[in-house]
Amino acid sequence: MGAARKQSVKFDARMFEDVPVLQRTWRAALKPGETLPRYEDVLLGSLGRLADHMVLLKCENDAFAVSRTGRYAQEWLGDERWDIPMDALRPDCATVLSEAAANAIANNRPYLTAADCVRNGMVRTYDVLALPTFARWGGTLVGAYVNERGAEYNLLDAIFSTTDDGVISLSTIRDATGRPFDFQVVHYNQAAVRLLNVAERSLLWQRLSNGGHLLCSQAVVGRLRAAVKDDQGDRFEIDSDDRTLRLAITAFGGILSLVISDVTSLKRRDASFRLLFDSNPMPMWALDCETMAFVRVNDAAVQHYGYACETFLRMKVHEIWPKEEWLSYTQALRDIGDTYQSEHHWRHVKADGTEICVLTFGRRIMLEGREGYLVAVVDITERRKAEARIAHMALHDGLTNLPNRALHQERLGEALESGNAAGKRVAVLCIDLDLFKNVNDSFGHPMGDCLLKQVADRLRSRVASNNLAARLGGDEFGIILADDTSPKQASDFAAGLISMLSEPYEIDGNQVVIGASIGIALSPGDGTSSEELMRNADMALYRAKQDGRGTQRFFEREMDHQVQRRRELELDLRRAFANGEFELHYQPLVDVALDKISGFEALLRWLHPEKGMISPAEFIPVAEDIGLIVTLGEWVLRQACNEAVKWPSEIKVAVNLSPAQFRSRNLVQLVISALANSGLSPKRLELEITESVFLAETEANLAILHQLRELGVSISLDDFGTGYSSLSYLRSFPFDKIKIDRSFVKDLAKRSDSVAIVRAISGLGRSLNITTTAEGVETTEQLDWLRAEGCNEVQGFLFSGAKPAAEVEQLLRRFGARASRAA
Ligand code: C2E
Ligand code: CA
Ligand code: CA
Repeated sequence: MGAARKQSVKFDARMFEDVPVLQRTWRAALKPGETLPRYEDVLLGSLGRLADHMVLLKCENDAFAVSRTGRYAQEWLGDERWDIPMDALRPDCATVLSEAAANAIANNRPYLTAADCVRNGMVRTYDVLALPTFARWGGTLVGAYVNERGAEYNLLDAIFSTTDDGVISLSTIRDATGRPFDFQVVHYNQAAVRLLNVAERSLLWQRLSNGGHLLCSQAVVGRLRAAVKDDQGDRFEIDSDDRTLRLAITAFGGILSLVISDVTSLKRRDASFRLLFDSNPMPMWALDCETMAFVRVNDAAVQHYGYACETFLRMKVHEIWPKEEWLSYTQALRDIGDTYQSEHHWRHVKADGTEICVLTFGRRIMLEGREGYLVAVVDITERRKAEARIAHMALHDGLTNLPNRALHQERLGEALESGNAAGKRVAVLCIDLDLFKNVNDSFGHPMGDCLLKQVADRLRSRVASNNLAARLGGDEFGIILADDTSPKQASDFAAGLISMLSEPYEIDGNQVVIGASIGIALSPGDGTSSEELMRNADMALYRAKQDGRGTQRFFEREMDHQVQRRRELELDLRRAFANGEFELHYQPLVDVALDKISGFEALLRWLHPEKGMISPAEFIPVAEDIGLIVTLGEWVLRQACNEAVKWPSEIKVAVNLSPAQFRSRNLVQLVISALANSGLSPKRLELEITESVFLAETEANLAILHQLRELGVSISLDDFGTGYSSLSYLRSFPFDKIKIDRSFVKDLAKRSDSVAIVRAISGLGRSLNITTTAEGVETTEQLDWLRAEGCNEVQGFLFSGAKPAAEVEQLLRRFGARASRAA
């Protein structure tokens, strides 16, 4: 700064000669005893070229007037006129001339001062030497020598080009001892006029001591004086009414440049910043860019992070980062621009060591002259947890917390992708719990839920590393074995699962036993996509279920065909009813004692247009699955009643009911309606149910059975002995008839246990007064056994298979009075 200033100062050598020369001349002209030299002795004759620089001032009535001016002086004054009052001069010149002249006269000696004048946007400093003289014709004449000092400051250019602020240049007015005591405005811009809220007139050339605006206060003048004295800049703010002005003083020797800025809004911004910062509910802080130290923290930050404010302010930002992130976070912070928004989550550590996850928003700011970051923090730890929970929930089963079907599918896809690429096999196991429905139905859903959770726990215990156990829905689970599994490994794994899942479960003090069936599909042979593999594992499961409980089956291509066939069957079934492809056949029931037909069992027949006769054993389960059984069952009942009413009055008709018909709720109404429409006596109608009716909604179904029995129809328990607890059902409902399943009849001659069972059932029937009917009697030998064991009724090919209605009459004729065996 100093060097630059020196360079810009041009010294005019003449000045060093002219001023001392004139001072010497003045002293030489002073005669002893006189206070002032004569005008002629000082200012006339000997001046030479200095005359160009002179302004001759007359003092009249304590006021000065210009009487003569030299050429140089005229340029300086911007005026060539002589004999004009001082007021007519440019004020900057007039002020310094009056000042110098007055001082000279008051002290009776030459007075040297400097004048700062602005010419063509440049501040120029002029030396003014006032030489007081005494005129012979009376009065005082002051010769003022004026010359530019030569220092030039391109001040205004510099300031005006860089600011919209108010700029005022002041020249210093010194007292006789050289001490600055007042200031005169020598230049100003429009912004200054506006900011100081003064008329232009009261600004230019005015001395601050004249008052009239903000700069004239004691306080401001005091600081201006100090600035001149110390030759140093200054910066401070002054308040007026509702405004705050910031003054920046730059001193250039005797001239001061004053930059005035309205910082009212800035102050307000600052105040609102403080308010926003300090009482913001968001944790916020300011960091020093260089040291990375906290330089300000707000209350929320103190509370949130748990550090006392003083502690915080002694810390550096990395102290709230986890150690392992120091490098990356530091780099990230260095990379940010003027403003930033978290693109990713940051990990912060609180005072108590807990880690939080935050988003940060920041901007670069100036903080007390230093560069810093202002940072606001949003703690998203909870939000992240919630998001994680939601994400988890979307991919996991709420009850068991196992991965759900979606995640299973996703993982299988991934496993297959890498497996296919690496030539490794992936096995997928579909698990279905055996008898789960029973537990659910008989013990209630809460119990079923407990069971599923335990099953899940067991499955979880078996899967490790990149294998996965998932709940696919209901009582169905899936397992992915991703580690290049061989068929043997998959099979062993499945066997292990089955035995594990078949271990008893302890639920609320009850021991529950279930089992599991498993279908297995293995990539790439059974499929390379997750969909294909799952479909095939599902098919294998279906087969495993069919083949009996507790089995595992690998997928085979043949299964695919079965599924295909089943799908076709479903489609055909829907169509078949509308097309009238169904027909009822009737199979005689023969009274053993009387040896004659006591009734007929109505059995459904489906004559498929292409495939021919399809067994009800095959299509009834499908009709149950697709819900067609209700309509179909209704048709059967009405049809059977309509037919039976044509038969002799002692001949009964037996109609099979599906559990699905019980669920339809209007079964009793249907029976009443069928009887009423046909005119058949309820006594002639037998309804056959299997124990599966008791597996679900037992109470409701029992109520229906009681209502049916109230109507006078009889109820038979079909396929007796094939279920699990046939005997217990006999206690729950007063059946009219038990139909011993044909599997016992078939083995009568070969297996003693079958004989024992038949004997037990008929004995039970006798004691409970329930008719016992044996199904599937094909041989006279069987008939003899049954008769010997006290069976009441028989049914089977020995007499006749099921025949169309048209053949009933003929059958009745054959076995009417006395049934003789079929050939
Ligand atoms: P089910 O009620 O046990 O019917 C007796 C089944 O045994 C009939 O098979 C009958 O043809 C067959 N059968 C009769 N005597 C003999 C014999 O001496 N030896 C052999 N091996 N079998 C014999 P079908 O007609 O194929 O019916 C199968 C099952 O379909 C029935 O078993 C019954 O559960 C169901 N079903 C048939 N018609 C209907 C119906 O209208 N509604 C309902 N819900 N189910 C029906
Ligand atoms: Ca039956
Ligand atoms: Ca049966």
